[in-house]
Amino acid sequence: MNAAAQVLYMISATLFVLGVRFLGSPASARKGNRFLAIGMLVALATTVTFAPRYDHWVFVVLVVLAGSAIGIISARKVRMTAMPQMVALFNGLGGGAAALVAAAGWPGSTGAASGLALLTMILGSLSFGGSIIAFLKLQEWLHVAQRLAFGLRISGLLVLAAAVAGAIFMGTAPSPGLGGAIALMGAAAVSGALLTLPIGGADMPVVISLLNALTGLSAAATGFVLHNQLLIIAGTLVGASGTILTQQMSRAMHRSLTNVIWSGQAAAQQAGSVDGTVQSITPDDVAMLLRYAKKVVIVPGYGLAVARAQLEVKQVTDLLQGFGVEVLFGIHPVAGRMPGHMNVLLAEADVPYDQLWEMDRINPRFRDTNVVLVVGANDVTNPAARTAAGSPLYGMPILNVDEAQNVVVLKRSMGRGFAGVDNPLYVHPKTRMLFGDAKHSLSALVRELETIA
Ligand code: NAP
Repeated sequence: MNAAAQVLYMISATLFVLGVRFLGSPASARKGNRFLAIGMLVALATTVTFAPRYDHWVFVVLVVLAGSAIGIISARKVRMTAMPQMVALFNGLGGGAAALVAAAGWPGSTGAASGLALLTMILGSLSFGGSIIAFLKLQEWLHVAQRLAFGLRISGLLVLAAAVAGAIFMGTAPSPGLGGAIALMGAAAVSGALLTLPIGGADMPVVISLLNALTGLSAAATGFVLHNQLLIIAGTLVGASGTILTQQMSRAMHRSLTNVIWSGQAAAQQAGSVDGTVQSITPDDVAMLLRYAKKVVIVPGYGLAVARAQLEVKQVTDLLQGFGVEVLFGIHPVAGRMPGHMNVLLAEADVPYDQLWEMDRINPRFRDTNVVLVVGANDVTNPAARTAAGSPLYGMPILNVDEAQNVVVLKRSMGRGFAGVDNPLYVHPKTRMLFGDAKHSLSALVRELETIA
């Protein structure tokens, strides 16, 4: 490869590594995104400029422009709650692209290069098939009856085994043809789809993260096939971060990855009913409670994203701080439906990062907190996770909001959260329920607080 191209690829790889590093903190995440975008631009420009064949460059430029336009429009238009399905779709396309590139480079290759190309075709296509199903399920365009789960899983495994056997045959066949590659990719995509079909829509973020790791690995393997260091580095970064994220999400949900993939929906409908009296409260009473508090912790959850109430949360925070109340946010690692969901929402409303305290840091503070305002969070505050052996939540670390002096929960009903279990917090003597859409409840709270002022 041209020396100038190698230098530019190294610059691009460095930008990728730094970008991922900066994504590690909400404060530097925007910078991380910019580094990654510039890294990708350098990589694309280098590839187009130094490509060995120039006869298709107009087509390549058009494709790059079209892809960039789709990316920009999606990033601007897609709602925060629909982000997991967008990631699923893009990830699937990445896996499919890696498989196609490997298929194009495979004829004529021998030894390790041939083996890696075949592996990439399987992994990339599997990720493609699985991601498309994940997208359809998250979009709620596809529902699968749980009674079909066992059959789908077994069929998926059989098709995958057939694909692997086919790949071994193709690796040793004297004159392998492109038809075989297409059949192999088709089988792997079908196996990915069959294995993903029985997984519950709400478990999809973990599955997407896993498929993302597979896409990264297939991209890295393509890099070996094409002797392209940048693809190896970028693919390895995606593979490693996808693997770490998958582990962290499973751990934070207190479930093994095998359980997520093989045991169907987390929403085991085995909820026990909770006994006790539900006490509701009105916005004016909540306003008084908050106004005369010294310390308030706001705990956001998935309902905040559904209600799109981040700006109203910020308004409440500003008003309380104006009264001299200390306001912090308690952030659970799996609050919402994707990693960092709450951080991104609150960043959108310009809530300062130093006000967002992670679970381990905020938990010791609840004891001396006057009021906890739970906004659309459920599972991540459910005390049953500590005691109810047999509950899908049992063992999951939670935000210990029940240790605070007063708890006010903003949600629409007594409805369950993602895990499908009742929450004893709602009948706790120190809890008051402010029923309604979080955006409306918070707007009412803002009006009341302004009146007090
Ligand atoms: P949750 O347990 O799903 O509860 C969300 C609550 O929000 C619901 O009980 C719902 O109650 C309420 N809600 C919905 N729309 C609302 C609205 N417009 N206004 C007010 N309230 C509304 O959410 P969570 O506490 O954030 O917990 C997240 C769950 O997702 C965990 O079980 C976690 O394991 C799982 N999960 C997370 C990730 C991740 O990466 N973050 C990935 C996969 C799974 P009402 O219907 O009564 O309003």
